[in-house]
Amino acid sequence: MTTKKVKKKKRKENKSYTYYQIKEGKLIRRLKKCPRCTSFMAIHKGENARYTCGKCAYTEYQTTSEIK
Ligand SMILES: [Zn+2]
Repeated sequence: MTTKKVKKKKRKENKSYTYYQIKEGKLIRRLKKCPRCTSFMAIHKGENARYTCGKCAYTEYQTTSEIK
């Protein structure tokens, strides 16, 4: 008899959820396009709110406090 070892693979999380925000049952797009390569940028919240492009690593800092 042989027992198969099942390796647990770490799933790559789909980061698309970071692009959307559900507010009052509505899906709101929060996407910002990279001015360099026009791909969608990820939003990082915190003290230094910023947009970061996953392709070319372009980073744009949010000077206003629009992101909450
Ligand atoms: Zn880019």
